[in-house]
Amino acid sequence: MIVILKQNVESEKIDKLVGRFEDMGLSCHHSTGAHTTILGIIGDTSRVDIDAVRAIEIVEDVKRVSEPYKAVNRKFQPDDTIISVKTDGFESKLGGGFFGVIAGPCSVECEEQIVSVARRVKKSGATMLRGGAFKPRTSPYSFQGLHAEGLELLMTAKRETGLPIVSEIMDLSHFDLFRDVDVIQVGARNMQNFEMLKALGRSGKPILLKRGMANTIEEFLMSAEYIMSGGNDRIILCERGIRTFEPMTRNTLDISAVPVLKHQSHLPVVVDPSHAAGIPWLVEPLSKASISAGADGLMIEVHNNPSAALSDGAQSLTPAQFDGVMEKVKAQLLFEGKKLSS
Ligand code: PEP
Ligand code: MN
Repeated sequence: MIVILKQNVESEKIDKLVGRFEDMGLSCHHSTGAHTTILGIIGDTSRVDIDAVRAIEIVEDVKRVSEPYKAVNRKFQPDDTIISVKTDGFESKLGGGFFGVIAGPCSVECEEQIVSVARRVKKSGATMLRGGAFKPRTSPYSFQGLHAEGLELLMTAKRETGLPIVSEIMDLSHFDLFRDVDVIQVGARNMQNFEMLKALGRSGKPILLKRGMANTIEEFLMSAEYIMSGGNDRIILCERGIRTFEPMTRNTLDISAVPVLKHQSHLPVVVDPSHAAGIPWLVEPLSKASISAGADGLMIEVHNNPSAALSDGAQSLTPAQFDGVMEKVKAQLLFEGKKLSS
């Protein structure tokens, strides 16, 4: 349920109303926009007398929210959430007209690799560096990542370039190792690892949540709701392609998920065309399509030597190819009136 308040209401009166809902065992999500203040009420609101609330002096209107996701719902917060990630001397923003590009290898492999890729992608305009240290591989015989050492190498690349770091967590027991990771990625395979989502909801760390490969948009938003209901509103949604019957691409980029997510939620949406396509030459057209569809950012795999990569080399761009994609991205962002924050 949302309660839309009249303009310029004194904060004491709002606090009193919030207290009334809290006394009923409900929780209140407060959103103050440029023109409206909205109280999003979460819990069993069936006992709330809507007409009685509507009659309160400071209340403009009351509406029930039928969707199961509440805090992430745009009805709860009409304005876009802007996620700001800062390191010493660098800020990357996503959402609300700010566009972010997260680039880097699938896996961190050695210092030379991650530092050289970090330097090259930064030069091309990337705003964050990605690199997996814990890798969710289909085969137990495939490279599993460098684990703690991989995270250390990401910190070296951060010191060298200032770029904020994005890396995937696969098990909560590793959480302390992610202390200096700027954005924690929850991969497609863990999108419904609910205990992990709850713990990350209490962490206060920015989370990049990837859509599961066989999950609906509603399930995706419910996973984001798990994180947000724990008190963490710094969530970036990532569409990375879904499984369909089509074998020509690794996954099928669900491009309509972008405007649907933006319509239903205030959270920023990024697209990962690398995992969606599985093919380097498709990264550019899918990136352009994503920007046209309203995405707030991109996540692109880049490797200094794709043919020798320990994971996902077949879909990785070379730094030179990434530079070419970024030229197109920058031109399109200018046209769309979006700012590549760096
Ligand atoms: C990745 O980002 O390298 C990755 C494993 O992605 P996904 O979870 O989308 O498969
Ligand atoms: Mn990968």
